[in-house]
Amino acid sequence: MPLLLPQVSRREFLKRAALAGAATALAPASFAGIFGNARDQHTFAFFSDPHIAADAALKNSGVNMADNLAACVRELAAWPVKPAAVIVNGDLPFKSGLPEDYAMFGKLIEPVRALAPMHLSLGNHDERENFWQAFPHDATKLKTVPHKQATRFASARANLLLLDSLDVTLATPGELGAAQLEWLARELAARPDKPAIIVGHHNLQAPGGPAGLKDSAALEEVFARHRQVKAYIYGHTHNWHVETHASGVQLINLPPTGYVFKEGRPSGWVRCALARDGAEFELRSLDAKHAEHAQVKKLQWRTG
Ligand SMILES: [Zn+2]
Repeated sequence: MPLLLPQVSRREFLKRAALAGAATALAPASFAGIFGNARDQHTFAFFSDPHIAADAALKNSGVNMADNLAACVRELAAWPVKPAAVIVNGDLPFKSGLPEDYAMFGKLIEPVRALAPMHLSLGNHDERENFWQAFPHDATKLKTVPHKQATRFASARANLLLLDSLDVTLATPGELGAAQLEWLARELAARPDKPAIIVGHHNLQAPGGPAGLKDSAALEEVFARHRQVKAYIYGHTHNWHVETHASGVQLINLPPTGYVFKEGRPSGWVRCALARDGAEFELRSLDAKHAEHAQVKKLQWRTG
């Protein structure tokens, strides 16, 4: 399953922050509100494509990825409500998934650990063994599907199914694979009545579009067969975008917290609030002047 990092206690957080040193981004004073806010069981925070390098000063495309992630974390920590969970949807490390990259990523997300449970998943720049070893005390290493990490967790208004579309590290396309697709079909068949949201790193492969899921057609068959699937949330293209699939499933392409591929596109994170019959997704751009910043997409789930 994607690594579930359980929430840490206030006491544990302060201890870790003290060990990390007051000069770091973990200084408790930076996160004064972290323990005081109420939790909203219908709110989720989505981060994607942080691309964190061991060297926190490293820039790519003119962007300091560590600074960007730290800024997203600060905003989330100051948010008026705590989310039910925080999902980081793949491409955690800069390029090839070095152990030192994961160590820096772990440091930067530490304040989130005090806020909510976190789910981490894998993209094409992740490396499974290094990923599993990066969080040895927190990792739930049970693998539902051999060599893949897939998990389901339930919230009051939806089941979230987190998939692993990493095929080969540093190869751009992704693949779910037959075993994981069978697992997904079984999970959905067992829970036909509650809305289901599928989360994976890679985009559906569109003709002429950016390299995405090699087995997109199989996932689209899942959309057709299981009507309770209402949304597919993914990253990979570093391009915030929302559209409706021909099946009526909502497609939510998360922005990167790191760098964008196309100048002018926003980076940041996404707040999701589940309603009974849909959800709203709000872009939290790191550039508050970006035209799409704070735009809320109110999505209605397909029926029946
Ligand atoms: Zn990426």
